[in-house]
Amino acid sequence: MKNNFSALRTKLKEIAHLNTAMTALMWDQEVKMPLGGAARRAETMATLSGVTHDKFLSTDFVTLLTELKKNSGAKKFDQGQAATIKDIWKTYEREKRIPKKFIEDEARAISAGQTAWQHARKQSKFSLFAGELTKLVELARRKADYIGFRHSPYDALLDLFEPEVRTQEVSIMLDELKKFLIPFLGKVFAAAKKENFSHDIFSGNFPLETQKKFNREIATKMGFDWHRGRFDESTHPFTVAFHPEDVRITTRYSQADVFYSIISTVHETGHALYEQGIEPRHFGTALAQPASYGIHESQSKLWENMVGRSTGFWKYFYPRLQELFPEPFGGISLQDFYNNLNAVIPGPIRTEADELTFNLHIILRFEIERDLIEGTIAVRDLPEIWNAKTKEYLGLTPKNDAEGVLQDIHWSQGGFGYFPSYILGNLYAAQLYARASQEMQNLETEIALGHFEHLLNWLRKKVHRHGKKYDPQELMMQATGEGLRSSYFIRYIEKKYADIYQLKP
Ligand code: ZN
Repeated sequence: MKNNFSALRTKLKEIAHLNTAMTALMWDQEVKMPLGGAARRAETMATLSGVTHDKFLSTDFVTLLTELKKNSGAKKFDQGQAATIKDIWKTYEREKRIPKKFIEDEARAISAGQTAWQHARKQSKFSLFAGELTKLVELARRKADYIGFRHSPYDALLDLFEPEVRTQEVSIMLDELKKFLIPFLGKVFAAAKKENFSHDIFSGNFPLETQKKFNREIATKMGFDWHRGRFDESTHPFTVAFHPEDVRITTRYSQADVFYSIISTVHETGHALYEQGIEPRHFGTALAQPASYGIHESQSKLWENMVGRSTGFWKYFYPRLQELFPEPFGGISLQDFYNNLNAVIPGPIRTEADELTFNLHIILRFEIERDLIEGTIAVRDLPEIWNAKTKEYLGLTPKNDAEGVLQDIHWSQGGFGYFPSYILGNLYAAQLYARASQEMQNLETEIALGHFEHLLNWLRKKVHRHGKKYDPQELMMQATGEGLRSSYFIRYIEKKYADIYQLKP
């Protein structure tokens, strides 16, 4: 049996190398490729994914996998091997059930969907996208039918991003969060009229070279390994891992604004530390993959919000920021800087949202896509539903479809089931951070002294090194002693913003 597993490993490594090649091309496309290269690059990518797909479903691969699966209950495998067999089997079962014809139909619908969405957004007219979106929803429902589910068809889609997490659990957690957030935001908004914190202090003239230097210093201090990583620029910041020994992050700089690059650097470095914390020797197995999209996001959000927007972090970094940009920060106290950094400003656009309102943007999207897939609402009613929810949750109405229902790319790509990962990331992060603070009593002091290695080592031990050995719920059990709850995040938010906005209990 051992030999059979190493035969599987060899094949998995081949597939992983092909994935590395595709990742490298994807990175190149975002960071370096001239626009003219797009059409041929799309063909190269399609060819490579075809090769990977064929390898995965080849007769000898499937025979080997089936043999191993039959014996996987026999305790002949260690945890990592068993997890790998389980993970690959699950993917295989899913792939096998989805007809090739469907995959082609879906690819065409996504391509048409994106074109229609771009056009509709430019014109700010939802009706120009409604027809294509209806097709995409229909296809997503069919996909769920192929994959199979017990309760909600949305379960099947959610599982693609958050293995073994169910729609009903997410609905309950997000309902609790919503019931806390809406009245709490009301209090914050009332207080905000007096306090008037804003991001204005981050606007001005900030030479790019100095910004880059500062961002590199932050990433280094957080523990980013430059020998196994790179830092570049792209329109939309992102992180990719070719493999654990080549992890790349990007950010975007603007001379007029110093906030965006800093906060996105901390976020992406959080993602990168996860990837660099995965053990290279597991390349090709489940242990070399992240546990889920939400767990990945938890690592970026933990660093971005719990660390990067904390007093401690800035106690350490603010003197340096003041030194690099004496204008305007020389004349602004640490406390004022911190308060403005955490300003809560409700707006219609998700990607511009603060730490607090961001969650309501996601809850709104989750509810809509769940109801669409479950068939309880119709595509044609989306603008009205979207605007009503925005009014109820954030107290404002989008001016038009472009800044409302048409703002996100996800649905035009058929990406139903992805939105919850953003908010689950916040919930995982708060629970992990609460546990870390409990186990390391002086964590806040350490951070204020610029000692991030204790937190990083804790995350390495509890999260990074396990890869996909556990599904997200099991991982949380192992790391924190209980399954995911929204209460940690609620407590974190309540304490932080009651302090900033001086709310009465
Ligand atoms: Zn992220």
